[in-house]
Amino acid sequence: MGALDALSDESYTGANRCWPCTVLNLGIVGLIALFLRARERSMASLWVAVVGVAVVYLRGYLVPYTPEFAPRLVAASPVPDEWFHGEPAHGETSQEGVTRQENESLADDVEIDGETVFRELSAAGVIEVEGEQLFLTAAVDTAWHERMDELADRSLDSLSTALQASLEQVDNAEPYAREDTEWVVLGSEHKQLLPRPVVVAELAAYEVLGERLDDERLRVAGAEAFRMFLDRCPVCGSELVESSSVSCCGGHLGPRQNPDETLVCPTCEQRLYTFELSDS
Ligand SMILES: [Zn+2]
Repeated sequence: MGALDALSDESYTGANRCWPCTVLNLGIVGLIALFLRARERSMASLWVAVVGVAVVYLRGYLVPYTPEFAPRLVAASPVPDEWFHGEPAHGETSQEGVTRQENESLADDVEIDGETVFRELSAAGVIEVEGEQLFLTAAVDTAWHERMDELADRSLDSLSTALQASLEQVDNAEPYAREDTEWVVLGSEHKQLLPRPVVVAELAAYEVLGERLDDERLRVAGAEAFRMFLDRCPVCGSELVESSSVSCCGGHLGPRQNPDETLVCPTCEQRLYTFELSDS
């Protein structure tokens, strides 16, 4: 089964399989097969059906970027969300576990509430409010983007070294790559994986904030907040798309909680920011 194992993608199959993606993709395979049959191309039709189903089985989905749009289709459809995601068993998916996994950030261990972060950032002239919207002030925004561009060109090794050198709280940082995805692993005992785009965005923000804030914890928390102002992926330059955390894949909170809005890079398939909506 070596060849099959190599083909299969664990992130979207097995326990991680996302049913919206699977159902949608099987439907598309079926439609193409029917279309070919109707045009009397039975061999092609059979081939599409067999290969299509096999790919969906092995990889979780066939149509590129399904994980980005399937959850939105499901969210918009009248079909109850529970049909796709069973209620988590008691104590199985703790809310803390989920947010941790979704919000990979240097600021994971920093506990400062969002309001304090924004008050301090605005007092330091880093952000400003216009109408109902928040913006980074022009000088900060320019400095941040210039720094991100420089960091984006660095190797993963060099990024890890820079991260360890800049941040007091990071005692160890190592590069880690698997298939097309790159991370920096932080810490020696309690390990944490930070995806490359997050490292670039937060390290650049942290350095820019260094000239404006003295408090180390605020710099780290502020660096995470900067990610909500991204409109392009700091690594590949793709325009970010707004998505929802109703799933794909494995990030489901539970039927009665509102899905959070997220910013996702469709090319890196990486979530860059999660706007946490309260689930009142
Ligand atoms: Zn990207």
